[in-house]
Amino acid sequence: MADRAPVIVIGGGFTGLSCAYELAKNGVSVVVLEKESDLGGMASSFKIKGKNIEKFYHHCFCHDHSIINLAQQLGCGDQLTGTHSSVATYINGKFYRLSGPLDVLRFKPLNFRDRIRLGLLVLKASRIQDWKPLESLTAMEWLKGQCGPEVYRVVWEPLLRGKFGAHADTISAVWIWNKLKLRGTSRNWKRQEKLLYYRGGFALLVDRLSHAICKKGGNVRTRCDVSSIICSDNRVQAVKTSDGTIEAQSVVVATALPVAADLLSESIDSDYIASLRRIEHRANLCLVLELSERLSSFYWLNVNDPNVPFVAVIEHTNFQLPEDYAGKKIVYFSKYLSVSDPYYQMTGSEVLSSFLPHIKRMFPHFKDSWIENYYLWKSPYSQPVVGRDYSQIIPSVRTPINGLYLSTMAQIYPEDRGINYAVREGMYLGQLLVKQLSNN
Ligand SMILES: Cc1cc2nc3c(=O)[nH]c(=O)nc-3n(C[C@H](O)[C@H](O)[C@H](O)COP(=O)(O)OP(=O)(O)OC[C@H]3O[C@@H](n4cnc5c(N)ncnc54)[C@H](O)[C@@H]3O)c2cc1C
Repeated sequence: MADRAPVIVIGGGFTGLSCAYELAKNGVSVVVLEKESDLGGMASSFKIKGKNIEKFYHHCFCHDHSIINLAQQLGCGDQLTGTHSSVATYINGKFYRLSGPLDVLRFKPLNFRDRIRLGLLVLKASRIQDWKPLESLTAMEWLKGQCGPEVYRVVWEPLLRGKFGAHADTISAVWIWNKLKLRGTSRNWKRQEKLLYYRGGFALLVDRLSHAICKKGGNVRTRCDVSSIICSDNRVQAVKTSDGTIEAQSVVVATALPVAADLLSESIDSDYIASLRRIEHRANLCLVLELSERLSSFYWLNVNDPNVPFVAVIEHTNFQLPEDYAGKKIVYFSKYLSVSDPYYQMTGSEVLSSFLPHIKRMFPHFKDSWIENYYLWKSPYSQPVVGRDYSQIIPSVRTPINGLYLSTMAQIYPEDRGINYAVREGMYLGQLLVKQLSNN
């Protein structure tokens, strides 16, 4: 296979790299093209005190078999280690621990009957195997039916609004069912949640993966921006990049779906492109504070307060040890938004100034002098909007053009985005291509 034009994989996130790894492992000539200087996409990292830290908070679940299996294949399975998480919710100026069943029973914003309904929901969700009947319901309809309007108003509505904004009422019941199932099944017999993290940061796993691709004869190029995909006679021919045109025997597009639509807009008919554009995405911005002191005792804090401009506070160093970051405390403030929201245009100092009064109100002991550094990261396509009957609009991995394949986080359904599924889908497509190419 080596004398043919290579398979080109566009996008050096977990999907693209996992696909390329599978191809390289099987002797297929493959080139990954990544427009950024670093690999890892939304799971890429920066440095604090010389240590890797993700731009956007990341953890995995104990049953994330695809990424665990990948790490094992790469000889670093022991680096994915489990830690108990501590979860809380901020409502009406107070913090409520919500890490386990006892916390739910003590959850004062709800009356006792509603607390029981909330607790049972997680159990019920983990028992649902057939999600198809949920497809025609919205999360709002399903949650209200399961736990009543008050539980919905207090617990779920602020989270759905925080994540999906104006789309909140249209989000599929499948999406929320899956989230509940995921968190419910990453617990031990005491119902304590355990999450996985790659020791030293997921950047090290990305490095391993990229080295493994190259060791097996593949090529990984960063700072190589693909501007279009060239097709003729209903077959993919080449990709146009910032480094020139590269011929391809097959092309895998492993970017976000709207980017795929842009890259293909001149080579495929407009109906197909319009079908790709039907799935909308939310953007995310994360303000990361490097602090001298600990902000709270929680790893994950949901902010159920529509007056606060961020929806979650993730104190990474309550999950991983501050000693790993020279004693610094690292806290993410996460906001989901539309790219047309004025926040998306703001600089780091503007976002910090806007968030600070809320941070001080929530954490009255917080002092400006704790801030040693701040960083702002933005991602335009960070969450697909999963509406009712989503399965009807997901594009297939195969496209109408021969040799052209799509693997994006908008196609991971009923699961939601996540690096485990990026690995799973990337590897699946790699295997599919290996079979296909060996038959040709
Ligand atoms: C705030 C936030 C928190 C998250 N937390 C978690 C978590 O805790 N656990 C978890 O499992 N997942 C989490 N995720 C989701 C996870 O990051 C994604 O599901 C996963 O990284 C998607 O990988 P991907 O390779 O499919 O896409 P991406 O990571 O988006 O990779 C696509 C790549 O394509 C590149 N690209 C785009 N256009 C071009 C072009 N024209 N030419 C060349 N390259 C191009 C991009 O630069 C990017 O590197 C989180 C995401 C966000 C935004």
